[in-house]
Amino acid sequence: MKFKRFAEYLERIEQTPSRLKMTSVLAELFGEATADEIDQMVYLALGRLRPKYESVEFNLAEKMMFRVMAEAYQVEPAKVKQAFKKTGDLGGAVEELPHFAKASRGTAKDLSVAEVYQRLMDVAADEGVGSQERKVNHMANLIRDLDSLSAKYVLRIPVKKLRLGFSDMTVLDGLSWMEAGDKSLRPQLERAFNVSADIGGIAERFKKGGLAGVAGVKVKVAVPIRTAQAERLPNEKAVVEKLKVFAVEGKYDGLRVQIHVDKSPDSKRKIQSDLFGESKKFVEIFSRNLDNMTHMFPDIVAAADKLKVKTAILDGEAVAFEPKTGKSLPFQETVTRKRKHGVKNKAKEMPLKVIIYDLLYLNGTTLIEKPFKERRKQLEKVLGRNGKTDGLELAEQEIVSEPERLNQLLKKYLKEGLEGVMCKKLTTAYQAGARNFNWVKLKKTSQKELADTIDCVVMGYYAGRGKRSGFGIGAFLVGVTHKSEARSTKSEIGVGSVAKIGTGLTDEQWREIRRRADKLKVKAKPEEYVVDKNLAPDVWVRPEMVVEILADEITRSPIHAFGLALRFPRLISFRDDKDVGQATTKRELERLFKLQRG
Ligand code: ATP
Repeated sequence: MKFKRFAEYLERIEQTPSRLKMTSVLAELFGEATADEIDQMVYLALGRLRPKYESVEFNLAEKMMFRVMAEAYQVEPAKVKQAFKKTGDLGGAVEELPHFAKASRGTAKDLSVAEVYQRLMDVAADEGVGSQERKVNHMANLIRDLDSLSAKYVLRIPVKKLRLGFSDMTVLDGLSWMEAGDKSLRPQLERAFNVSADIGGIAERFKKGGLAGVAGVKVKVAVPIRTAQAERLPNEKAVVEKLKVFAVEGKYDGLRVQIHVDKSPDSKRKIQSDLFGESKKFVEIFSRNLDNMTHMFPDIVAAADKLKVKTAILDGEAVAFEPKTGKSLPFQETVTRKRKHGVKNKAKEMPLKVIIYDLLYLNGTTLIEKPFKERRKQLEKVLGRNGKTDGLELAEQEIVSEPERLNQLLKKYLKEGLEGVMCKKLTTAYQAGARNFNWVKLKKTSQKELADTIDCVVMGYYAGRGKRSGFGIGAFLVGVTHKSEARSTKSEIGVGSVAKIGTGLTDEQWREIRRRADKLKVKAKPEEYVVDKNLAPDVWVRPEMVVEILADEITRSPIHAFGLALRFPRLISFRDDKDVGQATTKRELERLFKLQRG
Protein backbone atom coordinates (compact mmCIF):
# COMPACT_ATOMS: atom_id res chain seq x y z
CA MET A 1 0.00 0.00 0.00
CA LYS A 2 1.19 3.50 -0.71
CA PHE A 3 1.85 5.47 2.44
CA LYS A 4 -0.42 8.23 1.20
CA ARG A 5 -3.37 5.86 1.21
CA PHE A 6 -2.40 4.63 4.68
CA ALA A 7 -2.32 8.25 5.86
CA GLU A 8 -5.83 8.74 4.48
CA TYR A 9 -6.97 5.86 6.67
CA LEU A 10 -5.26 7.43 9.68
CA GLU A 11 -7.04 10.67 8.94
CA ARG A 12 -10.40 8.91 8.80
CA ILE A 13 -9.67 7.19 12.11
CA GLU A 14 -8.59 10.47 13.68
CA GLN A 15 -11.70 12.24 12.51
CA THR A 16 -14.27 9.72 13.62
CA PRO A 17 -15.70 10.38 17.06
CA SER A 18 -17.13 6.89 17.32
CA ARG A 19 -15.21 3.83 18.37
CA LEU A 20 -17.41 1.46 16.45
CA LYS A 21 -16.76 3.41 13.29
CA MET A 22 -13.06 3.47 14.10
CA THR A 23 -13.08 -0.33 14.35
CA SER A 24 -14.74 -0.66 10.98
CA VAL A 25 -12.25 1.72 9.36
CA LEU A 26 -9.41 -0.34 10.87
CA ALA A 27 -11.07 -3.47 9.46
CA GLU A 28 -11.18 -1.86 6.03
CA LEU A 29 -7.51 -0.92 6.30
CA PHE A 30 -6.52 -4.42 7.42
CA GLY A 31 -8.60 -5.91 4.62
CA GLU A 32 -6.67 -3.91 2.07
CA ALA A 33 -3.24 -4.63 3.60
CA THR A 34 -1.06 -7.53 2.47
CA ALA A 35 0.22 -10.07 5.00
CA ASP A 36 3.72 -8.63 4.60
CA GLU A 37 2.83 -5.11 5.60
CA ILE A 38 -0.01 -5.49 8.10
CA ASP A 39 2.30 -5.74 11.12
CA GLN A 40 4.08 -2.52 10.12
CA MET A 41 0.73 -0.78 9.71
CA VAL A 42 -0.42 -1.93 13.12
CA TYR A 43 2.70 -0.65 14.85
CA LEU A 44 2.67 2.65 12.94
CA ALA A 45 -1.04 3.27 13.61
CA LEU A 46 -0.31 2.72 17.30
CA GLY A 47 2.44 5.34 16.99
CA ARG A 48 5.35 2.89 17.28
CA LEU A 49 7.73 0.86 15.17
CA ARG A 50 7.68 -2.33 17.17
CA PRO A 51 5.55 -3.76 19.98
CA LYS A 52 5.71 -1.65 23.12
CA TYR A 53 7.79 -4.19 25.04
CA GLU A 54 10.68 -3.93 22.59
CA SER A 55 11.05 -0.24 23.41
CA VAL A 56 12.50 0.91 20.11
CA GLU A 57 13.20 4.58 20.73
CA PHE A 58 13.89 7.40 18.28
CA ASN A 59 15.76 9.62 20.75
CA LEU A 60 14.65 12.70 18.86
CA ALA A 61 13.31 15.47 21.08
CA GLU A 62 10.63 17.88 19.95
CA LYS A 63 13.32 20.53 19.55
CA MET A 64 15.14 18.32 17.07
CA MET A 65 11.92 17.77 15.17
CA PHE A 66 11.69 21.56 14.64
CA ARG A 67 15.03 21.28 12.89
CA VAL A 68 13.76 18.33 10.86
CA MET A 69 10.84 20.40 9.61
CA ALA A 70 12.97 23.47 9.02
CA GLU A 71 15.37 21.46 6.87
CA ALA A 72 12.63 19.60 5.04
CA TYR A 73 10.69 22.71 4.16
CA GLN A 74 13.59 25.13 3.93
CA VAL A 75 12.23 27.52 6.51
CA GLU A 76 13.75 29.06 9.63
CA PRO A 77 13.48 26.88 12.76
CA ALA A 78 11.85 29.89 14.46
CA LYS A 79 9.03 29.76 11.89
CA VAL A 80 8.48 26.09 12.66
CA LYS A 81 8.36 26.88 16.34
CA GLN A 82 5.82 29.58 15.71
CA ALA A 83 3.63 27.22 13.66
CA PHE A 84 3.99 24.62 16.38
CA LYS A 85 2.92 27.08 19.04
CA LYS A 86 -0.17 27.95 17.07
CA THR A 87 -1.32 24.37 16.59
CA GLY A 88 0.33 22.72 19.59
CA ASP A 89 1.21 19.78 17.38
CA LEU A 90 4.05 18.95 15.01
CA GLY A 91 1.67 17.38 12.52
CA GLY A 92 -0.63 20.38 12.56
CA ALA A 93 2.34 22.70 12.08
CA VAL A 94 2.88 21.23 8.61
CA GLU A 95 -0.14 23.02 7.23
CA GLU A 96 0.94 26.29 8.77
CA LEU A 97 4.25 26.54 6.99
CA PRO A 98 4.14 28.97 4.09
CA HIS A 99 6.72 27.33 1.86
CA PHE A 100 5.43 23.95 2.43
CA ALA A 101 2.82 23.58 -0.30
CA LYS A 102 5.28 24.56 -2.98
CA ALA A 103 8.04 22.34 -1.68
CA SER A 104 5.93 19.27 -1.23
CA ARG A 105 4.27 19.38 -4.61
CA GLY A 106 7.58 19.19 -6.33
CA THR A 107 9.23 16.56 -4.18
CA ALA A 108 6.74 13.98 -2.88
CA LYS A 109 7.75 10.51 -4.02
CA ASP A 110 4.69 8.38 -3.35
CA LEU A 111 6.55 5.97 -1.06
CA SER A 112 5.06 2.67 0.11
CA VAL A 113 4.29 1.89 3.75
CA ALA A 114 7.21 -0.55 3.78
CA GLU A 115 9.62 2.11 2.49
CA VAL A 116 8.58 4.68 5.06
CA TYR A 117 8.68 2.07 7.81
CA GLN A 118 12.20 1.02 6.86
CA ARG A 119 13.44 4.60 6.77
CA LEU A 120 11.95 5.29 10.20
CA MET A 121 13.58 2.10 11.50
CA ASP A 122 16.94 3.29 10.16
CA VAL A 123 16.53 6.60 11.98
CA ALA A 124 15.67 4.85 15.24
CA ALA A 125 18.54 2.38 14.93
CA ASP A 126 21.20 5.03 14.30
CA GLU A 127 23.28 5.61 17.40
CA GLY A 128 26.68 6.79 18.53
CA VAL A 129 28.82 9.77 17.58
CA GLY A 130 27.07 12.20 15.24
CA SER A 131 23.84 10.22 15.30
CA GLN A 132 21.68 13.23 16.24
CA GLU A 133 22.77 15.08 13.11
CA ARG A 134 22.24 12.03 10.93
CA LYS A 135 18.83 11.38 12.45
CA VAL A 136 17.77 14.94 11.71
CA ASN A 137 19.03 14.70 8.13
CA HIS A 138 17.39 11.38 7.42
CA MET A 139 14.11 12.45 8.96
CA ALA A 140 14.18 15.69 6.95
CA ASN A 141 14.82 13.75 3.75
CA LEU A 142 11.95 11.45 4.54
CA ILE A 143 9.57 14.34 5.26
CA ARG A 144 10.62 16.01 2.04
CA ASP A 145 9.70 12.84 0.17
CA LEU A 146 6.18 12.79 1.63
CA ASP A 147 2.97 14.58 0.77
CA SER A 148 1.58 16.85 3.47
CA LEU A 149 -0.95 14.42 4.91
CA SER A 150 1.63 11.65 5.26
CA ALA A 151 4.13 14.09 6.78
CA LYS A 152 1.55 15.19 9.32
CA TYR A 153 1.30 11.66 10.75
CA VAL A 154 4.94 10.64 10.35
CA LEU A 155 6.16 13.72 12.25
CA ARG A 156 4.17 12.75 15.31
CA ILE A 157 5.66 9.27 15.62
CA PRO A 158 9.20 10.01 16.90
CA VAL A 159 7.81 12.23 19.67
CA LYS A 160 5.11 9.69 20.65
CA LYS A 161 2.27 12.02 19.80
CA LEU A 162 0.38 10.07 17.16
CA ARG A 163 -2.40 9.20 19.64
CA LEU A 164 -5.24 8.15 17.40
CA GLY A 165 -7.12 7.04 20.49
CA PHE A 166 -7.12 3.27 20.22
CA SER A 167 -5.18 0.46 21.78
CA ASP A 168 -4.04 -3.08 21.09
CA MET A 169 -7.54 -4.31 21.98
CA THR A 170 -9.19 -2.20 19.27
CA VAL A 171 -6.74 -3.71 16.80
CA LEU A 172 -8.03 -7.16 17.82
CA ASP A 173 -11.60 -5.94 17.26
CA GLY A 174 -10.60 -4.53 13.88
CA LEU A 175 -9.10 -7.88 12.85
CA SER A 176 -12.23 -9.72 13.91
CA TRP A 177 -14.35 -7.21 12.01
CA MET A 178 -12.23 -7.64 8.91
CA GLU A 179 -12.94 -11.36 8.82
CA ALA A 180 -16.42 -11.72 10.36
CA GLY A 181 -17.98 -8.27 10.03
CA ASP A 182 -18.37 -8.07 13.83
CA LYS A 183 -16.42 -8.59 17.06
CA SER A 184 -17.23 -12.29 17.39
CA LEU A 185 -13.65 -13.51 16.79
CA ARG A 186 -12.21 -11.28 19.49
CA PRO A 187 -12.03 -14.06 22.16
CA GLN A 188 -9.86 -16.29 19.97
CA LEU A 189 -7.69 -13.36 18.96
CA GLU A 190 -7.41 -12.24 22.56
CA ARG A 191 -6.36 -15.71 23.67
CA ALA A 192 -3.44 -15.51 21.26
CA PHE A 193 -2.59 -11.98 22.39
CA ASN A 194 -2.68 -13.04 26.05
CA VAL A 195 0.06 -15.60 25.58
CA SER A 196 2.09 -13.61 23.09
CA ALA A 197 1.67 -9.86 23.32
CA ASP A 198 3.04 -8.96 19.88
CA ILE A 199 0.03 -7.27 18.36
CA GLY A 200 1.61 -6.85 14.92
CA GLY A 201 2.70 -10.48 14.89
CA ILE A 202 -0.86 -11.58 15.68
CA ALA A 203 -2.23 -9.43 12.85
CA GLU A 204 0.24 -10.96 10.44
CA ARG A 205 -0.60 -14.53 11.48
CA PHE A 206 -4.31 -13.85 11.27
CA LYS A 207 -3.97 -12.32 7.83
CA LYS A 208 -1.93 -15.29 6.63
CA GLY A 209 -3.69 -18.19 8.32
CA GLY A 210 -7.00 -16.94 9.75
CA LEU A 211 -8.17 -18.37 13.05
CA ALA A 212 -6.11 -21.53 12.55
CA GLY A 213 -3.07 -19.27 12.28
CA VAL A 214 -3.67 -17.52 15.59
CA ALA A 215 -4.68 -20.76 17.31
CA GLY A 216 -1.07 -21.81 16.75
CA VAL A 217 0.35 -18.82 18.64
CA LYS A 218 2.61 -20.11 21.37
CA VAL A 219 4.50 -18.70 24.29
CA LYS A 220 7.90 -17.46 23.18
CA VAL A 221 10.85 -16.23 25.17
CA ALA A 222 11.28 -12.45 24.75
CA VAL A 223 7.59 -11.89 24.03
CA PRO A 224 5.72 -11.08 27.26
CA ILE A 225 2.73 -13.07 28.45
CA ARG A 226 -0.13 -10.99 29.87
CA THR A 227 -0.14 -11.52 33.62
CA ALA A 228 -2.70 -13.50 35.59
CA GLN A 229 -4.54 -11.50 38.25
CA ALA A 230 -6.40 -12.16 41.45
CA GLU A 231 -10.04 -11.91 42.53
CA ARG A 232 -11.21 -10.90 46.00
CA LEU A 233 -13.32 -12.65 48.61
CA PRO A 234 -14.51 -11.15 51.89
CA ASN A 235 -12.89 -13.48 54.42
CA GLU A 236 -11.10 -16.73 55.19
CA LYS A 237 -14.28 -18.80 55.28
CA ALA A 238 -15.37 -17.66 51.84
CA VAL A 239 -11.93 -18.52 50.44
CA VAL A 240 -12.03 -22.05 51.83
CA GLU A 241 -15.58 -22.55 50.53
CA LYS A 242 -14.57 -21.42 47.06
CA LEU A 243 -11.11 -22.97 46.63
CA LYS A 244 -11.34 -26.01 48.98
CA VAL A 245 -7.65 -27.02 49.02
CA PHE A 246 -5.20 -24.34 47.91
CA ALA A 247 -1.71 -22.92 48.22
CA VAL A 248 -1.19 -19.88 50.44
CA GLU A 249 1.67 -17.48 49.75
CA GLY A 250 2.48 -14.06 51.11
CA LYS A 251 1.31 -11.09 49.05
CA TYR A 252 4.51 -9.14 48.51
CA ASP A 253 4.13 -5.45 47.86
CA GLY A 254 6.55 -4.67 45.10
CA LEU A 255 6.73 -4.57 41.33
CA ARG A 256 5.45 -7.43 39.23
CA VAL A 257 8.25 -8.68 37.02
CA GLN A 258 8.16 -11.26 34.26
CA ILE A 259 11.68 -12.46 33.67
CA HIS A 260 12.62 -14.04 30.33
CA VAL A 261 15.86 -15.94 30.14
CA ASP A 262 17.44 -17.45 27.05
CA LYS A 263 20.80 -19.11 27.59
CA SER A 264 20.45 -21.56 24.74
CA PRO A 265 23.47 -21.75 22.47
CA ASP A 266 21.52 -20.33 19.55
CA SER A 267 20.44 -17.25 21.50
CA LYS A 268 21.88 -14.47 19.41
CA ARG A 269 20.75 -11.74 21.70
CA LYS A 270 22.88 -10.27 24.34
CA ILE A 271 22.38 -7.41 26.67
CA GLN A 272 24.76 -5.19 28.47
CA SER A 273 24.73 -4.94 32.22
CA ASP A 274 27.20 -2.24 33.16
CA LEU A 275 26.77 -2.74 36.89
CA PHE A 276 27.79 -6.35 37.05
CA GLY A 277 29.77 -6.71 33.87
CA GLU A 278 28.50 -7.87 30.57
CA SER A 279 25.79 -10.47 30.56
CA LYS A 280 26.63 -12.96 27.85
CA LYS A 281 23.16 -14.32 27.59
CA PHE A 282 19.78 -12.93 27.05
CA VAL A 283 17.58 -11.73 29.91
CA GLU A 284 14.62 -9.39 29.58
CA ILE A 285 12.28 -8.07 32.25
CA PHE A 286 8.72 -6.95 31.60
CA SER A 287 6.26 -5.10 33.81
CA ARG A 288 2.62 -6.03 34.36
CA ASN A 289 1.82 -3.46 31.65
CA LEU A 290 4.14 -5.20 29.19
CA ASP A 291 6.72 -2.43 29.39
CA ASN A 292 10.33 -3.37 29.02
CA MET A 293 12.16 -2.68 32.30
CA THR A 294 15.35 -4.61 31.56
CA HIS A 295 17.66 -1.62 31.69
CA MET A 296 16.27 -0.47 35.02
CA PHE A 297 17.20 -3.66 36.83
CA PRO A 298 20.77 -4.79 36.08
CA ASP A 299 20.78 -6.64 39.42
CA ILE A 300 17.83 -8.82 38.37
CA VAL A 301 19.46 -9.43 35.00
CA ALA A 302 22.62 -10.62 36.76
CA ALA A 303 20.63 -12.84 39.11
CA ALA A 304 18.59 -14.41 36.31
CA ASP A 305 21.72 -14.94 34.29
CA LYS A 306 22.97 -17.36 36.95
CA LEU A 307 19.98 -19.70 36.68
CA LYS A 308 20.83 -23.15 35.45
CA VAL A 309 18.32 -23.24 32.62
CA LYS A 310 18.43 -23.06 28.85
CA THR A 311 15.29 -21.01 28.55
CA ALA A 312 12.72 -19.89 31.13
CA ILE A 313 9.97 -17.40 31.88
CA LEU A 314 9.48 -16.61 35.56
CA ASP A 315 6.74 -14.61 37.26
CA GLY A 316 7.46 -12.77 40.48
CA GLU A 317 7.56 -9.67 42.60
CA ALA A 318 10.61 -7.43 42.87
CA VAL A 319 11.04 -5.92 46.32
CA ALA A 320 13.76 -3.46 47.31
CA PHE A 321 15.67 -4.06 50.51
CA GLU A 322 18.00 -2.26 52.83
CA PRO A 323 21.49 -3.56 52.00
CA LYS A 324 22.79 -3.44 55.59
CA THR A 325 19.89 -5.12 57.35
CA GLY A 326 18.31 -7.06 54.50
CA LYS A 327 14.96 -5.61 55.55
CA SER A 328 12.34 -5.33 52.79
CA LEU A 329 11.28 -1.81 51.89
CA PRO A 330 7.72 -0.61 51.23
CA PHE A 331 6.28 -0.30 47.74
CA GLN A 332 6.79 3.48 47.69
CA GLU A 333 10.52 2.91 47.98
CA THR A 334 10.71 -0.05 45.62
CA VAL A 335 8.99 1.95 42.92
CA THR A 336 11.83 4.52 42.94
CA ARG A 337 13.96 1.83 41.28
CA LYS A 338 11.88 2.37 38.15
CA ARG A 339 14.03 5.02 36.50
CA LYS A 340 15.94 5.79 33.36
CA HIS A 341 18.85 7.68 34.88
CA GLY A 342 21.11 6.98 37.82
CA VAL A 343 20.25 3.28 37.59
CA LYS A 344 23.64 2.11 38.77
CA ASN A 345 23.81 4.16 41.95
CA LYS A 346 20.24 3.46 42.88
CA ALA A 347 20.79 -0.28 42.44
CA LYS A 348 23.68 -0.15 44.91
CA GLU A 349 21.80 1.97 47.39
CA MET A 350 18.60 -0.02 47.14
CA PRO A 351 19.12 -3.53 45.77
CA LEU A 352 16.22 -5.72 44.70
CA LYS A 353 15.34 -9.29 45.36
CA VAL A 354 12.68 -11.07 43.38
CA ILE A 355 10.24 -13.40 45.06
CA ILE A 356 9.45 -15.91 42.34
CA TYR A 357 5.99 -17.47 42.47
CA ASP A 358 5.44 -19.02 39.08
CA LEU A 359 7.22 -20.65 36.18
CA LEU A 360 5.56 -20.26 32.79
CA TYR A 361 8.11 -21.74 30.44
CA LEU A 362 11.11 -24.00 30.84
CA ASN A 363 13.74 -25.29 28.44
CA GLY A 364 11.68 -24.93 25.32
CA THR A 365 8.34 -26.06 26.77
CA THR A 366 5.32 -23.98 27.70
CA LEU A 367 4.04 -24.66 31.19
CA ILE A 368 1.04 -22.33 31.24
CA GLU A 369 -1.44 -25.11 30.48
CA LYS A 370 -0.07 -27.26 33.31
CA PRO A 371 -1.74 -27.21 36.74
CA PHE A 372 -0.15 -24.86 39.28
CA LYS A 373 1.00 -27.81 41.40
CA GLU A 374 3.15 -29.03 38.58
CA ARG A 375 4.50 -25.62 37.65
CA ARG A 376 5.49 -25.11 41.27
CA LYS A 377 7.34 -28.46 41.35
CA GLN A 378 9.38 -27.45 38.32
CA LEU A 379 10.01 -24.02 39.82
CA GLU A 380 11.37 -25.61 43.00
CA LYS A 381 13.81 -27.60 40.88
CA VAL A 382 14.95 -24.53 38.98
CA LEU A 383 15.60 -22.50 42.13
CA GLY A 384 17.40 -25.35 43.84
CA ARG A 385 17.11 -27.07 47.16
CA ASN A 386 17.03 -24.06 49.44
CA GLY A 387 14.94 -22.04 47.02
CA LYS A 388 17.47 -19.28 46.64
CA THR A 389 19.96 -18.08 44.14
CA ASP A 390 21.50 -14.65 44.59
CA GLY A 391 18.65 -12.20 44.23
CA LEU A 392 15.94 -14.71 43.36
CA GLU A 393 13.88 -16.40 46.07
CA LEU A 394 11.17 -18.99 45.86
CA ALA A 395 7.91 -17.75 47.41
CA GLU A 396 7.12 -19.56 50.67
CA GLN A 397 4.06 -21.70 50.31
CA GLU A 398 1.75 -23.85 52.41
CA ILE A 399 -1.19 -26.01 51.34
CA VAL A 400 -4.29 -25.07 53.32
CA SER A 401 -7.90 -26.22 53.59
CA GLU A 402 -9.06 -24.76 56.93
CA PRO A 403 -10.18 -21.16 57.60
CA GLU A 404 -8.34 -21.16 60.95
CA ARG A 405 -5.00 -21.98 59.35
CA LEU A 406 -5.59 -19.41 56.63
CA ASN A 407 -6.28 -16.83 59.32
CA GLN A 408 -3.04 -17.69 61.13
CA LEU A 409 -1.05 -17.34 57.94
CA LEU A 410 -2.74 -14.06 57.05
CA LYS A 411 -1.84 -12.68 60.48
CA LYS A 412 1.72 -13.93 60.18
CA TYR A 413 2.29 -12.27 56.81
CA LEU A 414 0.61 -9.02 57.85
CA LYS A 415 2.88 -8.97 60.90
CA GLU A 416 5.89 -9.39 58.64
CA GLY A 417 4.79 -6.24 56.83
CA LEU A 418 3.37 -7.95 53.75
CA GLU A 419 0.10 -6.84 52.17
CA GLY A 420 -1.75 -10.04 52.97
CA VAL A 421 -1.92 -13.45 51.31
CA MET A 422 -2.52 -14.93 47.88
CA CYS A 423 -4.55 -18.13 47.77
CA LYS A 424 -4.04 -20.19 44.65
CA LYS A 425 -5.86 -23.16 43.22
CA LEU A 426 -3.51 -26.08 42.71
CA THR A 427 -5.21 -27.70 39.76
CA THR A 428 -5.62 -24.88 37.28
CA ALA A 429 -3.61 -23.52 34.36
CA TYR A 430 -1.97 -20.08 34.34
CA GLN A 431 -4.68 -17.95 32.80
CA ALA A 432 -2.81 -15.21 31.02
CA GLY A 433 -4.57 -11.85 31.01
CA ALA A 434 -7.41 -13.05 33.26
CA ARG A 435 -8.62 -11.95 36.67
CA ASN A 436 -10.47 -14.90 38.16
CA PHE A 437 -10.77 -17.16 41.20
CA ASN A 438 -7.72 -19.25 40.35
CA TRP A 439 -6.01 -16.68 42.53
CA VAL A 440 -7.72 -14.94 45.43
CA LYS A 441 -6.15 -12.15 47.45
CA LEU A 442 -6.95 -11.51 51.07
CA LYS A 443 -5.55 -8.42 52.71
CA LYS A 444 -7.22 -7.66 55.99
CA THR A 445 -8.47 -9.64 58.94
CA SER A 446 -10.63 -6.89 60.39
CA GLN A 447 -13.94 -5.77 58.95
CA LYS A 448 -13.30 -2.13 59.83
CA GLU A 449 -11.77 -1.34 56.53
CA LEU A 450 -12.56 -2.45 53.02
CA ALA A 451 -11.13 -5.83 52.07
CA ASP A 452 -8.93 -4.19 49.49
CA THR A 453 -7.56 -0.87 48.39
CA ILE A 454 -9.02 0.78 45.31
CA ASP A 455 -6.82 1.97 42.47
CA CYS A 456 -8.43 5.22 41.38
CA VAL A 457 -7.78 7.62 38.53
CA VAL A 458 -7.14 11.23 39.51
CA MET A 459 -9.61 13.37 37.55
CA GLY A 460 -8.85 16.86 38.83
CA TYR A 461 -8.22 19.02 41.87
CA TYR A 462 -9.75 21.89 43.80
CA ALA A 463 -7.84 25.01 44.79
CA GLY A 464 -6.70 25.07 48.40
CA ARG A 465 -8.22 27.06 51.16
CA GLY A 466 -7.01 27.75 54.71
CA LYS A 467 -3.87 25.95 55.71
CA ARG A 468 -3.47 24.28 52.36
CA SER A 469 -3.76 27.39 50.24
CA GLY A 470 0.04 27.33 50.21
CA PHE A 471 -0.04 24.08 48.22
CA GLY A 472 -2.63 25.44 45.78
CA ILE A 473 -4.63 22.27 46.23
CA GLY A 474 -7.25 21.57 48.88
CA ALA A 475 -8.84 18.37 47.60
CA PHE A 476 -8.78 16.11 44.58
CA LEU A 477 -11.35 14.11 42.71
CA VAL A 478 -10.85 10.44 41.90
CA GLY A 479 -12.80 7.90 39.91
CA VAL A 480 -12.95 4.30 38.81
CA THR A 481 -13.09 3.10 35.22
CA HIS A 482 -15.68 1.46 33.09
CA LYS A 483 -15.52 0.14 29.59
CA SER A 484 -16.85 2.88 27.46
CA GLU A 485 -19.27 1.26 25.06
CA ALA A 486 -20.63 4.69 24.30
CA ARG A 487 -20.41 5.10 20.59
CA SER A 488 -20.21 8.81 20.91
CA THR A 489 -16.84 8.82 22.66
CA LYS A 490 -13.61 7.69 21.17
CA SER A 491 -11.90 6.62 24.35
CA GLU A 492 -12.13 2.96 25.29
CA ILE A 493 -12.09 3.68 28.98
CA GLY A 494 -14.51 5.96 30.78
CA VAL A 495 -13.88 7.31 34.28
CA GLY A 496 -16.64 8.07 36.78
CA SER A 497 -16.11 9.90 40.08
CA VAL A 498 -16.21 7.96 43.39
CA ALA A 499 -14.62 10.29 45.94
CA LYS A 500 -13.40 13.77 46.68
CA ILE A 501 -10.39 13.48 48.93
CA GLY A 502 -9.47 16.43 51.10
CA THR A 503 -7.84 15.01 54.22
CA GLY A 504 -5.29 12.50 55.35
CA LEU A 505 -2.37 13.52 53.15
CA THR A 506 0.99 14.62 54.47
CA ASP A 507 2.31 18.01 53.30
CA GLU A 508 4.73 16.15 51.10
CA GLN A 509 1.90 14.14 49.51
CA TRP A 510 -0.09 17.32 48.81
CA ARG A 511 2.90 18.85 47.09
CA GLU A 512 3.54 15.65 45.15
CA ILE A 513 -0.01 15.25 43.91
CA ARG A 514 -0.15 18.90 42.85
CA ARG A 515 3.13 18.56 40.98
CA ARG A 516 1.95 15.45 39.18
CA ALA A 517 -1.51 16.85 38.45
CA ASP A 518 -0.11 20.05 36.95
CA LYS A 519 1.81 17.98 34.42
CA LEU A 520 -1.46 16.45 33.25
CA LYS A 521 -3.56 19.61 33.33
CA VAL A 522 -6.12 20.05 30.53
CA LYS A 523 -8.35 22.98 29.70
CA ALA A 524 -11.71 21.24 29.74
CA LYS A 525 -13.30 18.14 31.22
CA PRO A 526 -12.06 15.11 29.25
CA GLU A 527 -15.03 13.69 27.31
CA GLU A 528 -14.74 10.26 28.90
CA TYR A 529 -15.29 11.63 32.44
CA VAL A 530 -18.63 11.18 34.17
CA VAL A 531 -18.87 13.80 36.94
CA ASP A 532 -21.82 15.65 38.45
CA LYS A 533 -21.47 19.35 37.69
CA ASN A 534 -21.53 20.20 41.40
CA LEU A 535 -18.35 18.19 41.79
CA ALA A 536 -16.47 19.80 38.90
CA PRO A 537 -12.91 20.49 40.08
CA ASP A 538 -11.07 23.77 39.47
CA VAL A 539 -8.41 21.98 37.45
CA TRP A 540 -9.07 18.96 35.25
CA VAL A 541 -6.32 16.46 34.57
CA ARG A 542 -5.86 13.85 31.84
CA PRO A 543 -6.69 10.31 32.99
CA GLU A 544 -3.11 9.12 33.49
CA MET A 545 -2.41 9.18 37.22
CA VAL A 546 -3.44 6.12 39.24
CA VAL A 547 -3.49 6.34 43.05
CA GLU A 548 -4.12 3.63 45.61
CA ILE A 549 -6.91 4.58 47.98
CA LEU A 550 -8.00 2.90 51.20
CA ALA A 551 -11.51 3.56 52.49
CA ASP A 552 -13.57 2.37 55.44
CA GLU A 553 -16.47 1.37 53.31
CA ILE A 554 -18.35 1.85 50.08
CA THR A 555 -21.65 3.67 50.47
CA ARG A 556 -24.51 4.49 48.15
CA SER A 557 -24.21 7.97 46.70
CA PRO A 558 -26.70 10.22 44.96
CA ILE A 559 -23.98 12.38 43.46
CA HIS A 560 -21.10 10.17 42.32
CA ALA A 561 -21.11 8.68 38.83
CA PHE A 562 -22.03 5.07 39.51
CA GLY A 563 -24.23 5.59 42.57
CA LEU A 564 -21.39 4.50 44.87
CA ALA A 565 -18.86 6.48 46.89
CA LEU A 566 -15.85 5.79 49.10
CA ARG A 567 -16.24 6.66 52.78
CA PHE A 568 -13.19 8.09 54.59
CA PRO A 569 -10.90 7.67 51.61
CA ARG A 570 -7.16 8.15 52.12
CA LEU A 571 -4.18 8.08 49.83
CA ILE A 572 -1.91 5.06 50.24
CA SER A 573 0.41 5.37 47.26
CA PHE A 574 0.97 6.56 43.72
CA ARG A 575 0.58 3.48 41.51
CA ASP A 576 3.15 4.38 38.90
CA ASP A 577 3.24 0.74 37.85
CA LYS A 578 -0.37 0.91 36.68
CA ASP A 579 -1.95 2.68 33.78
CA VAL A 580 -5.58 3.62 33.56
CA GLY A 581 -6.51 0.31 31.98
CA GLN A 582 -5.47 -1.36 35.23
CA ALA A 583 -7.26 0.88 37.67
CA THR A 584 -10.20 -0.54 39.62
CA THR A 585 -13.31 -0.90 37.47
CA LYS A 586 -16.92 -0.04 38.21
CA ARG A 587 -17.68 -3.77 38.19
CA GLU A 588 -15.01 -4.48 40.80
CA LEU A 589 -16.29 -1.63 42.96
CA GLU A 590 -19.80 -3.04 42.79
CA ARG A 591 -18.47 -6.45 43.76
CA LEU A 592 -16.57 -4.98 46.71
CA PHE A 593 -19.76 -3.18 47.73
CA LYS A 594 -21.61 -6.49 47.78
CA LEU A 595 -18.74 -8.26 49.54
CA GLN A 596 -18.73 -5.82 52.45
CA ARG A 597 -22.40 -6.43 52.97
CA GLY A 598 -21.64 -10.15 53.19
P1 ATP B 1 -3.13 -4.84 44.35
O1 ATP B 1 -3.56 -3.46 43.99
O2 ATP B 1 -3.89 -5.43 45.47
O3 ATP B 1 -1.66 -5.01 44.43
P2 ATP B 1 -3.27 -5.54 41.77
O4 ATP B 1 -4.44 -4.93 41.11
O5 ATP B 1 -1.95 -4.90 41.61
O6 ATP B 1 -3.59 -5.74 43.25
P3 ATP B 1 -4.06 -8.20 41.68
O7 ATP B 1 -4.34 -9.05 40.53
O8 ATP B 1 -5.24 -7.76 42.41
O9 ATP B 1 -3.17 -7.00 41.22
O10 ATP B 1 -3.11 -8.96 42.68
C1 ATP B 1 -2.05 -9.63 42.14
C2 ATP B 1 -0.80 -8.83 42.33
O11 ATP B 1 -0.22 -9.12 43.58
C3 ATP B 1 0.20 -9.27 41.32
O12 ATP B 1 0.14 -8.44 40.18
C4 ATP B 1 1.51 -9.20 42.01
O13 ATP B 1 2.15 -7.99 41.65
C5 ATP B 1 1.20 -9.16 43.48
N1 ATP B 1 1.68 -10.32 44.24
C6 ATP B 1 2.35 -10.25 45.41
N2 ATP B 1 2.62 -11.45 45.90
C7 ATP B 1 2.12 -12.36 45.04
C8 ATP B 1 2.08 -13.79 45.02
N3 ATP B 1 2.61 -14.53 45.98
N4 ATP B 1 1.46 -14.36 43.95
C9 ATP B 1 0.92 -13.62 42.97
N5 ATP B 1 0.92 -12.27 42.94
C10 ATP B 1 1.52 -11.64 43.97
